Amino acid sequence: MEADDNLRQAFAAAGKKYSFDTVEAQFVAFKDFKVRWQRSYKWADFQVSDYLADAPQPVLMGLAESLFRRIIGESENGYSEELCKWVTDPQFCELKQPIYLRRSRNLTRSAAGENKSLQAAYDRLIGTGLVQSDPTLRLSWTKDANIRKVGRCSVLLRVVSISRVLDADEIPDFVLDYCLYHELCHLILGFDPTGARHGQEFAGMEAKFPQQKEAEQWLRRLCLYL
Ligand SMILES: [Zn+2]
Repeated sequence: MEADDNLRQAFAAAGKKYSFDTVEAQFVAFKDFKVRWQRSYKWADFQVSDYLADAPQPVLMGLAESLFRRIIGESENGYSEELCKWVTDPQFCELKQPIYLRRSRNLTRSAAGENKSLQAAYDRLIGTGLVQSDPTLRLSWTKDANIRKVGRCSVLLRVVSISRVLDADEIPDFVLDYCLYHELCHLILGFDPTGARHGQEFAGMEAKFPQQKEAEQWLRRLCLYL
């Protein structure tokens, strides 16, 4: 396939620059946007999210370069500027979000739960001025009642999912709103190529939720985690 050839070419060129003898790279249909690799001294094998299969060559070259720099310890983490620009372009989300939703087997793909509505929670948050309406955002309940992590957010693909365990009448609205707000804070802060998630800036934004303490107490009592 042409896309795979382009990828191999980009990684082979970067590998050569950093003195790797054998470099393999292929696109893989991961659900999330990610890259995995294995390496030995002079050999490296990359599995790259196929969400990048239509990316232009400079984006793939930038990705390869940044990964080799990480591998040899020249940089700790992060992606190239070209890559960040490509994946945060609105068109990336527009084209890949449907694929992500198809691959997310654990999502109902609906904001309407049996007892509670994520759309209603979202509207309440918009009403308080904490968040602004984002037409590209998709909200979904999960099919499983996950408790170890009640909320998830794909920043790049703009999908927030909330565990079905919160779709219950006993859960006060403000607890659900808080969980949704937590995930939306990730979205608002945007794609962080270093992978940092709950830093100081995040905590500051999260603390704007008026009933944060009470909501946290509720979650702790129910042994639920964000
Ligand atoms: Zn979080």
